[in-house]
Amino acid sequence: MENQKYSPFNIKAATPGKLKEFLKDKPFRAYQILKWVWQKDAKDFSCMTDISKSLRERLSEEAFIPTHRLIRKVASSDGAIKFLFELLDGEKIESVFIPEGDRRTVCVSTQAGCPLRCAFCRTGLMGFKRNLEWWEIVEQVRAVREEVKERITNVVFMGMGEPFLNYDQVLNALRMLNNVNYGLGIGARKLTVSTAGIIPGILKFAEVKEQFKLAISLNATTDEVRSYLMPINKTYPLEPLFRALRHYCARKRKRITFEYVLIKGVNDTDEDAKRLGRIARSIPSKINLIPYNPCDELPFEEPDDRDVQRFYELLYPFNVTVTIRWSKGREIKAACGQLLAES
Ligand code: SF4
Repeated sequence: MENQKYSPFNIKAATPGKLKEFLKDKPFRAYQILKWVWQKDAKDFSCMTDISKSLRERLSEEAFIPTHRLIRKVASSDGAIKFLFELLDGEKIESVFIPEGDRRTVCVSTQAGCPLRCAFCRTGLMGFKRNLEWWEIVEQVRAVREEVKERITNVVFMGMGEPFLNYDQVLNALRMLNNVNYGLGIGARKLTVSTAGIIPGILKFAEVKEQFKLAISLNATTDEVRSYLMPINKTYPLEPLFRALRHYCARKRKRITFEYVLIKGVNDTDEDAKRLGRIARSIPSKINLIPYNPCDELPFEEPDDRDVQRFYELLYPFNVTVTIRWSKGREIKAACGQLLAES
């Protein structure tokens, strides 16, 4: 591990172009090596049997293959598993494995900590440490896949951090996750980025050619409540946000998902439900209702099941697709808004 920090060339941080430059060899060698590290979980160069011995020796001397150090793994009785990883510089991040039906989803972090400090979120309490590099995001999926020994079908960018405050690294990570030749080969439609509503990021994402999916963590239907729950709303209030989303949907010919964490007495009134219905009807979208997961550090309460049902039924007349998402992994604090790199 110590060696990793000082070795000169990080294979996982290398794009094919950079790797080709480093190898000074035929381009297909770069693809072979990337396949070994991203598809076959190679930890050293000696196992790369389709590469010449002399090149393997050179790689062993001049390069290294980093992995996230697994510090802790906690399984919940519903099948979700939370992983705490340590990065090369000692920062800690969390990733969550969520099995559901045929789906095997990994929820990844994009930053160590988060600068946005949403009032209902444990990650916000940690403060912001740093942005993750693209390979550190992809490595979470590879490492979880290796641990659970299952094919990963979906990735959601909903862990620690705001993805669009780390836009370029997130886009590179999406492309490596999507790449079938030397990446993880996960379909673009199975890769979802969730943002707190960073408008410049949404507008840039509208120009991306791949069909990655977009979710908006909405959580309120008035600027007043949203600015209280999510201070970023003061910078990007609802009306400009909705304009950006309409532009996104028109440009991509796709609908988005609104995530709405339902918090007792804060955003769960009849009026909220009706406003949410009107918003969702005016933007091609579906709604995920997520009953809040309470935790000791924060003052909010989860809604009663009856209130969740009432809110859900009030959305009927608006003819929008609504799903109630009872978060998996609640008992291990792996559910939405509960990630906090505890050691
Ligand atoms: S909800 Fe997301 S954006 Fe808000 S503080 Fe938590 S991690 Fe950051």
